[in-house]
Amino acid sequence: MHCAVVLGAARAASTTPLLRARLLRTARHAMTTSMLHVPPPQGLLQPLAMPERLLLGPGPSNVPPRILAAGGRQLLGHMHPEVLQVMDEIKAGIQYAFQTQNRLTLAVSGTGHCAMEAALLNLLEHGDSVLVAINGIWGQRAADIARRLGANVHELMKSPGEYFTPWDIEEGLARHKPSVLFITHGESSTGVLQPLERLGELCHRHGCLLLVDAVASLGGAPIFMDQQEIDVLYSGSQKVLNAPPGSAPISFSERAREKMLKRKTKPPSFYLDMGWLANYWGCDGEPRRYHHTAPINSFFSLREGLAMLVELGLESSWERHRANCTQLCQGLHDLGLELFVKEEKARLPTITTVRVPEGYDWKEITAFLMDNHAIEIAGGLGPSVGKVLRIGLMGCNSTSGNVDRVLRALQDALRQLAGREAPLPPQGAGRKTLQHPASQARAGRRSWKSRGHGGEGCSSADMGCGSKPLLPVPHAGSLLTLVAWPPSSSPSPGLRAWQPHCKLT
Ligand code: PMP
Repeated sequence: MHCAVVLGAARAASTTPLLRARLLRTARHAMTTSMLHVPPPQGLLQPLAMPERLLLGPGPSNVPPRILAAGGRQLLGHMHPEVLQVMDEIKAGIQYAFQTQNRLTLAVSGTGHCAMEAALLNLLEHGDSVLVAINGIWGQRAADIARRLGANVHELMKSPGEYFTPWDIEEGLARHKPSVLFITHGESSTGVLQPLERLGELCHRHGCLLLVDAVASLGGAPIFMDQQEIDVLYSGSQKVLNAPPGSAPISFSERAREKMLKRKTKPPSFYLDMGWLANYWGCDGEPRRYHHTAPINSFFSLREGLAMLVELGLESSWERHRANCTQLCQGLHDLGLELFVKEEKARLPTITTVRVPEGYDWKEITAFLMDNHAIEIAGGLGPSVGKVLRIGLMGCNSTSGNVDRVLRALQDALRQLAGREAPLPPQGAGRKTLQHPASQARAGRRSWKSRGHGGEGCSSADMGCGSKPLLPVPHAGSLLTLVAWPPSSSPSPGLRAWQPHCKLT
């Protein structure tokens, strides 16, 4: 309200002192804010409200109360001894989860991408050769990051849904003579578990370091950093560890440390410089110096996530993920759906990919589950967009009960979206793909879809938000399109913020 109008009203209302006082207060407020061109956002004047959802997509997964409580603790100073002790406990927890005794083990203050960048930018210098194994989006992303660093990037390709054999790797190493090999243990875009046996030994025989992404697999599938001779391993907090996103475990072998020590140039990021981080995390035996203000509460959460993994035990955790994934795969098979990864041993126990049944639109299915069952599952990502649905069972979300829930919800979706009364194929009907005709009856159930939901799986063709695409992302395949905000009518393009038009995790 304009302040003059309010003042006038306040004077006119002089007979009712209470009302007058209130109006005067409003007027004063209006006067103090009248210099502001941007009004207070109405949304922020409402209380924060979040629905309950079962997050069975590729991540994040639900956070159990114990971890939520840890993250909600009162802050301490980030160099207080209690916080440094939490950091030490995190280091020990990561060493256990990674099965490593590496001194240089810590959590970077950021998500999985941050750890990926930290690994690459500390290992690589301009002109270094890197071999990137690409069988899904994460290899694509690593290659993109390495190119930005000026590295000489060689790509080793496999179709989505397949994995690399030691022979594939050896051939690539012999041909390209890289100093680093990047490979993804749990390819969350395709649901493939990459076998790591012999890869470290092969890399070292060819004078190369082995860098492994275990964001989607850590705690859900066996990995032995030291025994498998992995030189750099990183993960994330929001998958099996069930902590909120924002801190990412990472560890470097002695070989990797030596390569970093021999750098001719400083790493191109101060924030992610492993020399600084090693000191901040007490890995170099020197007194700890301030580097950045750690996301303390994220560390509290990560500490609890690791503590829960330690209490359960790695082997029990691996077995839990294996058993529930097997139950899920059997249930999907019984629904007549086709698993995307053919070989059972190559299926990632944390994230299962199933082909989008013929005649259905993946967005309709994910939207149906969200709107009618409050369950998140996701479509494909990168090379698997439009091809698969992805169902994640990670950490505390990996339960037999959740498998039943998501299968029932999927069955409901397939029935309702087919718009027919006939029952689904009988239980155990084999691997025949469902061929229900897509029904017109889908309209009206699109509230989630029309909000542009797609998990990681939004494609550039999916302009669900109604925004005009401005800049396609180079090398991102069909993953995402950027839109300008504020809209292009804004008089100050210099202040433009770029925002992906769909949710990415
Ligand atoms: N690597 C893999 C295998 C992943 O699954 C993800 C997240 N989906 C990432 C890297 C990136 O992690 P974040 O989204 O936490 O940055």
